[in-house]
Amino acid sequence: MLKIENLTAEIDGKQILNGLTLDVAAGEVHAIMGPNGAGKSTLSYVLGGRPGYEVTGGSVTFNGEDLLDMEPHERAAAGLFLGFQYPVEIPGVSNVQFLREALNSQRKQRGEEPLSGGEFLKLAKEKAGLLKLDMGMLKRNVNVGFSGGEKKRAEMVQMGILDPSFAVLDETDSGLDIDALRVVGEGINSIMRSPDKAVLLITHYQRLLEVVKPDRVSILAKGRIVRTGGPELATRLENEGYDAVMAEPA
Ligand code: ADP
Ligand code: MG
Ligand code: MG
Repeated sequence: MLKIENLTAEIDGKQILNGLTLDVAAGEVHAIMGPNGAGKSTLSYVLGGRPGYEVTGGSVTFNGEDLLDMEPHERAAAGLFLGFQYPVEIPGVSNVQFLREALNSQRKQRGEEPLSGGEFLKLAKEKAGLLKLDMGMLKRNVNVGFSGGEKKRAEMVQMGILDPSFAVLDETDSGLDIDALRVVGEGINSIMRSPDKAVLLITHYQRLLEVVKPDRVSILAKGRIVRTGGPELATRLENEGYDAVMAEPA
């Protein structure tokens, strides 16, 4: 579904991704783990098409199409969703307005009819219920005054509403307490676990992976994938640390 080949990318002239190769098939949850500064967030920004992140080599195809050739809004309409490590606040715009606008703009690009206010609210209520987020939170301005956990749950409500086929989730577990982690993890399972969808789950810790069980785990270090294995690789990283695991021959 997503095929990244020998990708190199830089920010401000500094090379961050150094020949990264990774395949994610439909139906798969692929966890990416790696030390701080390895380039994990950079990878998610490059996939999303964020300005300032310059691709200098390699290729990315999404369902056979050249992803790097698409504008960010086209990537989203094609079914790509990005969850951010640091969600932005948008004063003056309510979650409901923002989400309805985002959904209807994607529907329009796909040639689908917009949802009416009533249809949208029904959908939003269903997804907010799934993430145990009070509808009152969705009437408030986007992320303004939200706790870390509320931001992440609101972001997962957004994912539920947009219903992407591929989600790149960058440290969705950061700042979550144990209960919120379970709610968010189960939300990811319920929204994205499907034979025709896939997830790239970027995380530092194994605890989210106990709820969202990965099919494969890759280690990203110094801008490239240095090892790929099954779920046991995450357990070993947690117990032994990156240095010990990466010191062994692949
Ligand atoms: P990770 O998410 O794995 O912790 P990042 O992708 O955030 O790593 O960062 C990778 C490297 O890129 C780090 O060395 C970081 O300092 C550097 N970096 C990130 N953003 C910028 C930027 N805007 N300008 C220069 N260097 C950056
Ligand atoms: Mg980091
Ligand atoms: Mg990061």
